[in-house]
Amino acid sequence: MTQAIERLKNLSTAPAFNRLQCKECGAEYEPVAKHVCEECFGPLEVKYDYDVIRNTVTRETIEAGPNSIWRYRQFLPVSSNDPIDVGTGMTPLVEAKRLARRLGLKKLYIKNDAVNMPTLSFKDRVVSVALTRARELGFTTVSCASTGNLANSTAAIAAHAGLDCCVFIPADLEAGKILGTLIYNPTLMAVKGNYDQVNRLCSEVANTHGWGFVNINLRPYYSEGSKTLGYEVAEQLGWQLPDHIVAPLASGSLFTKIYKGFNEFVDCGLVEAKNVRFSGAQAEGCSPISQAFKEDRDFIKPVKPSTIAKSIAIGNPADGVYALEIAKKTNGNIEDVTDAEIIEGMKLLAETEGIFTETAGGTTIAVLKKLVEAGKIDPDETTVAYITGNGLKTQEAVSSYVGEPLTIEPKLEAFEAAFERANTLNRLDWEQTTV
Ligand SMILES: *Cc1c(COP(=O)(O)O)cnc(C)c1O
Repeated sequence: MTQAIERLKNLSTAPAFNRLQCKECGAEYEPVAKHVCEECFGPLEVKYDYDVIRNTVTRETIEAGPNSIWRYRQFLPVSSNDPIDVGTGMTPLVEAKRLARRLGLKKLYIKNDAVNMPTLSFKDRVVSVALTRARELGFTTVSCASTGNLANSTAAIAAHAGLDCCVFIPADLEAGKILGTLIYNPTLMAVKGNYDQVNRLCSEVANTHGWGFVNINLRPYYSEGSKTLGYEVAEQLGWQLPDHIVAPLASGSLFTKIYKGFNEFVDCGLVEAKNVRFSGAQAEGCSPISQAFKEDRDFIKPVKPSTIAKSIAIGNPADGVYALEIAKKTNGNIEDVTDAEIIEGMKLLAETEGIFTETAGGTTIAVLKKLVEAGKIDPDETTVAYITGNGLKTQEAVSSYVGEPLTIEPKLEAFEAAFERANTLNRLDWEQTTV
């Protein structure tokens, strides 16, 4: 324990990240607000001194840290000893026994970011990291191009940190995503166009205003926050890696960073090496990465999104090729499902596990089911499905598929009659679906 405290003290003096590096040509840059390589236009990624991490981080130092993503601070690109900690991370890893039985799997876990803090999606992870770094770099206004959850998260955490905030969304988002942003009182720009058009506009704004855009000029820092989805699963499985993971793909960033997180834990001696299979989930109405996978292409053809899974509707995914590469080299798969299957996926997870996820989570569950049925997930594999958002934010997707309450007079006879009627209807329903 005292040793753990000593090591924790070391942590506060030596940040292990030091440079940005181009993923394509390897050119290096100072760790400023920059995301594109000047030499080859490749994406920049944060570079760490892993010797510093190996010398200071153990399972014990992590376990002695805060109950949030900041227990992995040495693996994150911030130098502050005082990161923005709103309780993000350490969400439940639930063993999903009833869903496993329904699908025919033996060991299935749900990583439940539907209850992440403060805004009920995995985006709180990336934003906590990006805004901590934004503050270190001296930004006073933060911004983002969002499919909904990122707007919620940026507005909320900026409010907590006292940063000015201006966020951009496509105008046709779900009511819960819009209200869930406005309540924090940012400037909210609802753009008449799809996400890819919003993103293009934001790149222009980023060039003319000196703002920190969490997923544009701060993208190298932002994206590192997703690694914590890998670290937490490894730690929560008792410092082991799973055999197979299924996660949704929008830009593809989250998927590639879970992979990076697992590999860093192996490299730093925190878990044993294992070939984890990576499978990705998309909605058929926006499936550029899945299409490339199925056609065995190594490039992405951009598409125009049309699906109820708006939070993952990115037609021109920035990290698509990297996600593709990981699915191929780990012997995983990328699959897509229809909007009807997405709704079924949301209902299935709710009815078997008591977890109400949004459309992105419905996509993940529906793809999980499809892969099991196709024999592409072995029943013996320990499998983790990443649920990344909360169903209360996308109520319109399922509101006409969940039935109605039985409205009655406040009288016992009224209850008995209604209950009897409901049972008869259920029985008929059941008989019809089983013949
Ligand atoms: C943004 C988002 C994703 C995927 O994010 P990428 O890192 O861009 O692939 C998945 N699920 C939900 C709910 C999201 O909001």
